[in-house]
Amino acid sequence: MVAASQHPNITLMTYSEVEEVKGYVGNFNVKIRQKAKSVDHELCTGCGVCWEKCPNMVINEYDQGLSARKSIYIRFPQAVPSKPVIDRQHCRWFNRDGRCGVCSEVCQAKAIDYLQQDQVVDEEFGAIIVATGFDLFGNENSFAEYGYGTLPDVISGLHFERLSSASGPTGGKIIRPSDGKEPKSVVFIQCAGSRDDAKGKSYCSRVCCMYTAKHAHQVLEKIDDAQAYVFYMDIRTPGKAYEEFYRRSVNDGAVYLRGRVSRIFSKNNSMIVRGEDTLISKQVEIEADLVVLATAMVPGFDANIVAGLVGIGSDKDGFFEEAHPKLRPVETHTAGVYLAGTCQGPRDIPDSVAQAGSAAVKVCGLFSADERELDPITALVDEAICSGCGICLSLCPYKAIDFISVSASMAGVSFQREVAAVNEALCQGCGTCVAACRSGSINLKGFTNEQLLAEVEAVCQ
Ligand SMILES: Cc1cc2nc3c(=O)[nH]c(=O)nc-3n(C[C@H](O)[C@H](O)[C@H](O)COP(=O)(O)OP(=O)(O)OC[C@H]3O[C@@H](n4cnc5c(N)ncnc54)[C@H](O)[C@@H]3O)c2cc1C
Repeated sequence: MVAASQHPNITLMTYSEVEEVKGYVGNFNVKIRQKAKSVDHELCTGCGVCWEKCPNMVINEYDQGLSARKSIYIRFPQAVPSKPVIDRQHCRWFNRDGRCGVCSEVCQAKAIDYLQQDQVVDEEFGAIIVATGFDLFGNENSFAEYGYGTLPDVISGLHFERLSSASGPTGGKIIRPSDGKEPKSVVFIQCAGSRDDAKGKSYCSRVCCMYTAKHAHQVLEKIDDAQAYVFYMDIRTPGKAYEEFYRRSVNDGAVYLRGRVSRIFSKNNSMIVRGEDTLISKQVEIEADLVVLATAMVPGFDANIVAGLVGIGSDKDGFFEEAHPKLRPVETHTAGVYLAGTCQGPRDIPDSVAQAGSAAVKVCGLFSADERELDPITALVDEAICSGCGICLSLCPYKAIDFISVSASMAGVSFQREVAAVNEALCQGCGTCVAACRSGSINLKGFTNEQLLAEVEAVCQ
């Protein structure tokens, strides 16, 4: 990120959101809201005095609630640029009619600007790469049988990441959330929500086997006399040196139990994990100080909104859909829009980076051509019979249809009326508009009713 921020051809727009995307390949017009940071980043030196002195403590979402942050803060330690924003929802200045202002008083650079407003900018782009990432499945109600949300020492893999991170709230010391003590027995449960048709997602989240092996390894490495148990369905290690890494965690002493956990309940200051070891066909009970759930990767909470904004499709699970899973895995059906990373489906960092590189090269290829070939099968509106009802506009997944004004006359009177018009650069020939058009005024080129009937007739002859 630091390299990207320093590159002369890259403009980094942090704390910003895309609000509208218009146009088509080579000519995208994007409206971006740059949210008010309440800090002038041109003046701010990132010295940190403001957040040191800020009197207001807020739960730190990034640390999964394991620590507190200030109202003026940097979201995470490696953030670029390393300059703060004010969280207006919690800042005393904004919530107590200006009765605070400590950050402004201590800022030598005079960078605090409480009156800063959101700015909406319009930018032109030739192509778009969507890389909006993933969320994790589940809330406190999703894994009631595991006590997630009720037992404080049942946590998610992401929670564990913050606990074991050297730059995390505990400096990398693995502790139990309930009492801050080092856990001696840690149970990991894989496929929490993945490969679960009944209550979760049917797909495999692909990264959990490896990060659980990493977590088990960390427990055994960092805690003296610790035990790590992993409940699994199958171990999937389809990456370079992944199998070796998993074996290393087994050789370190991690105990892998093939089977599902049926219940977790608390008992005498610790927990009992009851499950089945299907390899010996026996019920097992393990006393655990900490339980870590490898929860499923799911599409970002606003994936639907992003898909609608950019005009791309989603698959049955809500991940953005590629044009072809084997032949065009980073392209979408919308020309000029590409995908990178977990917004397309679960994957780890090496795969996300490879896909991002591939998307970047596709964009370079697009820009290096003087002309672009379009698919000949696009929709065409017969203006004479289009009623201008607009149904096709609302249904088109590629935002390829718009109204245009055309001249018409009736009983000798001339007037203007609105009819649908298809932008051939955006149309992907999906036929949704054709099926929906009540007046029958839209057809796919080469596939009019007359042409189809003529084909049928020729075949029958
Ligand atoms: C517990 C856990 C441990 C893991 N450990 C490993 C590991 O050890 N090794 C490994 O290789 N992989 C690991 N992974 C997988 C790894 O996290 C992902 O492969 C990686 O984060 C995917 O990167 P991404 O850029 O696709 O998505 P993300 O990391 O989710 O990044 C997406 C970014 O887009 C931003 N964004 C989202 N929506 C918008 C919007 N509308 N506008 C602007 N910005 C937006 C988000 O804020 C975020 O910064 C782990 C995953 C989990 C859950």
